[in-house]
Amino acid sequence: MAVLIDGKKISQEIKDELKNKVAKLKEQGIEGALAVIQVGTDPASSVYVRNKKRACEYIGIRSESYELAEDTTEEELLALIDRLNHDDAINGILCQLPIPAHMDENKIIRAISPEKDVDGFHTQNVGALVVGQSGFVSCTPAGVIQLLKRSNIEIAGKNCVVVGRSNIVGKPMSLLMLQENATVTICHSKTADLKAMCKQADIIIVAIGKPKFITEEYVKEGAVVIDVGIHRNADGTLCGDVDFDQVMPHAAAITPVPGGVGPMTIAMLMNNCVASMTR
Ligand code: NDP
Repeated sequence: MAVLIDGKKISQEIKDELKNKVAKLKEQGIEGALAVIQVGTDPASSVYVRNKKRACEYIGIRSESYELAEDTTEEELLALIDRLNHDDAINGILCQLPIPAHMDENKIIRAISPEKDVDGFHTQNVGALVVGQSGFVSCTPAGVIQLLKRSNIEIAGKNCVVVGRSNIVGKPMSLLMLQENATVTICHSKTADLKAMCKQADIIIVAIGKPKFITEEYVKEGAVVIDVGIHRNADGTLCGDVDFDQVMPHAAAITPVPGGVGPMTIAMLMNNCVASMTR
């Protein structure tokens, strides 16, 4: 029976550590502020934005909200980002994704100053991760590393399979596991025999966006299973990309959904915000 990796508890620990750090920085006269931009009124985005602002309040940094109409032009959004880039009172800028289809997402991400890019999506920060230099790291994969480390799960020398190669989860996740000296295999929708690949993993990290896709047949007895996926079931409950009930009896450790990777994303965003205060 697997040990449950408690993301709620670990994320709370991290937020409490950050709260102490922020208090100490304040004593030195260093204040932090995060600008949160939302374009449109997508309900899921509104929940994420609200939670991010609450987390800022909890750790003691200011958040500034920019709620823009759905029909805001790309030029208007770029002008706002430019203003925030030059505002010394703002350390971090995030633009909640997805943005409306009439805007070029890559252009918007590139417009945010890499020094204030607390989401870690700017190509300069992604590049820094590739070559092992310091920079902001995408929050969800950074959170997975913290879950593993704070659960005393050995990473070095382990076979790690990352399923999914998105820019915000799969790719940075693979790079971080490589940095931690795992032997990393990246799988995706064109992988031949995904089951056989996954079966070799000591640590399997799943970010594919398909509810309960990974069943016991994909998981080696005693593997560590990290489930990044989040889906809402018809009855309103949540599930992940992993079939938790099937996999749990065979795994050594597993993240639940909810309460696994989810809460870590905001904790690591706060970590990046605090780092941005001293850059
Ligand atoms: P994307 O849709 O951007 O990427 C999905 C990846 O999974 C792609 O690389 C795709 O391959 C791969 N994939 C899809 N189907 C299969 C398959 N059948 N077999 C193997 N690989 C497959 O998703 P994200 O990375 O943004 O998100 C993944 C999941 O994580 C979602 O459920 C999302 O909601 C969740 N998420 C959770 C977060 C959290 O805070 N907990 C944060 C971010 C995401 P290909 O490239 O070949 O198309």
